[in-house]
Amino acid sequence: MNDLSPPTNTSGCRSAPILKQRGQREVFCGLTGIIWLHRKMQDAFFLVIGSRTCAHLLQSAAGVMIFAEPRFGTAILEETDLAGLADAQQELDKVVDELLARRPDIRQLFLVGSCPSEVIKLDLAKAAERMTQRHAPSVRVLNFSGSGIETTFTQGEDACLASMVPVLPETDARQLLLVGALPDVVEDQAINLLSQMGIDAKVLPAPRADSDLAVGPNTVFALIQPFLGDTHAALERRGARHLPAPFPFGEEGTTAWLAAIATEFGVDQATFDAVTAAPRARARKAIAQAAETLAGKSLFFFPDSQLEIPLARFLTRECGMTAFEIGAPFIHKAIVGPDLDLIAPGPTLSEGQDVDLQLDRARAQAPDLTVCGLGLANPLEAEGLATKWAIELVFTPVHFYEQAGDLAGLFSRPLRRKDILASDPTSFGPKYSGGSGGLAPQRQP
Ligand code: SF4
Repeated sequence: MNDLSPPTNTSGCRSAPILKQRGQREVFCGLTGIIWLHRKMQDAFFLVIGSRTCAHLLQSAAGVMIFAEPRFGTAILEETDLAGLADAQQELDKVVDELLARRPDIRQLFLVGSCPSEVIKLDLAKAAERMTQRHAPSVRVLNFSGSGIETTFTQGEDACLASMVPVLPETDARQLLLVGALPDVVEDQAINLLSQMGIDAKVLPAPRADSDLAVGPNTVFALIQPFLGDTHAALERRGARHLPAPFPFGEEGTTAWLAAIATEFGVDQATFDAVTAAPRARARKAIAQAAETLAGKSLFFFPDSQLEIPLARFLTRECGMTAFEIGAPFIHKAIVGPDLDLIAPGPTLSEGQDVDLQLDRARAQAPDLTVCGLGLANPLEAEGLATKWAIELVFTPVHFYEQAGDLAGLFSRPLRRKDILASDPTSFGPKYSGGSGGLAPQRQP
């Protein structure tokens, strides 16, 4: 299949120079991903081996579950563990034995590393191996790190999914794997669009450990989230092939993402158009409403969620905004290259962060809208800049056609709010000051 209305911009940003800086950075840690992952994997349990701060982050981010058995918890490392006076591996065995005896519904147990467990070099891979032998076949034990020492908050999901890939069964079947956690309703929309084109898709992560998910040399995979670099590498090591495409944000991104899959599976143009025409029209209409506020406005991305490049593509091309700087924690061109191709040259592309220098650039450029983490948003608001919290973008359904208007609305709301405040400062109550648990100002070497 060819000519699925590809975007026409031919001189994108893929080869633009990238400003790389290393210094203090302001991000949430990878434990945050547990909040959405535990909802997707219904027989999994996430056991964080961490501190009271880690426990507090999880509790405050997820809310306290009073009536349901939670699917995550924290094994607190006490001073004796941190000082090496107790055998942390033995303690961990005890905690896991008790947990699994009490919760026979658990089929997958993730041991999740944190800053403290990394600092004392607690070998969770060894622990997971030992526990798998002990509790197989009823429970599979894996490990990944959610530590804030070297990660951004979306890397927790990446590390979790990457840990699952090596233990997936082998298959020679020709199949499509969609990779990334989405709210069920949005995942269903994607699967429904593909099945109308005659394409069956499986999803990583699967809701249960006993699903028929497998991988092999005839597997092709489409990433749903741009922050899945380690998972991408793990799947390629298993012989699967990535289908590069812009990410499914907005009408254009969704169409291009679907087109890459449709081309791979030989879907004809008429079928593709018949399936996508109505939702495309709905998406365009919904985006147009929010774009009235966004068009002509300027934009600055601080690095945070790793969604920055696809979102910059969406906001500049579909909403008429101008990007001054697009900062991302990491830029994997194999993953975000197709989005970079579509962004018109002009914005500064930056990777990593030295927050003070970046704040200077943002202040000098005075963008109409700044997308950043919670730790920067309130100070910048106090300085008169309108901000959008990047973390909202992973907690809100924003992918595919039916959410395209909501996605644009997430960016237009702060601008409208600022306009209203400017005309009537009494129209809003005291501003929520955000939380601090898990916010980890970090200095890299
Ligand atoms: S940043 Fe804080 S909450 Fe996150 S893993 Fe480190 S200690 Fe725990």
